[in-house]
Amino acid sequence: MLKVGELDKPANVPCKHLCAHGCGVFDNRPTPTCGAFTCDWREGFLPKSAIPSKTHMVVWKTHLPTQDGERVEILECNIAEGEPIHQATFDHLMKCSENITVMFVRGEETWAYARGRKLAAWSPGARLSMRLDRRGIVEQVNTGS
Ligand code: SF4
Repeated sequence: MLKVGELDKPANVPCKHLCAHGCGVFDNRPTPTCGAFTCDWREGFLPKSAIPSKTHMVVWKTHLPTQDGERVEILECNIAEGEPIHQATFDHLMKCSENITVMFVRGEETWAYARGRKLAAWSPGARLSMRLDRRGIVEQVNTGS
């Protein structure tokens, strides 16, 4: 579901190494993208029912630059294209968004919550640009396609 630069694998395309038992090249999987990646479900931060193989939603911590050039931690949730939102995962992320920016990505759609409310959304084709301070999104800029 996620993009893997080392494999030229775009998002939402199954990996060529995926097999019936999971990763077919586990011991030699690309680093850092696969080797260092861990999701919030695996780390125990999400409800057990929010397992990505069932919800088609993967949540992980990442960083974005603030307007002052610092890096702020956010949660990113990637939803497989065409899949609905899993309610228990969404409810959990809404609670998280009281304290951390949560960005959802599904195909070309992107939207974000911060301080417990929806603050930004980008339509398909629009270039994503936003300004962050340490508390979350402070400005959304739609620059068109
Ligand atoms: S962990 Fe393995 S199957 Fe998954 S994307 Fe990486 S190489 Fe492909």
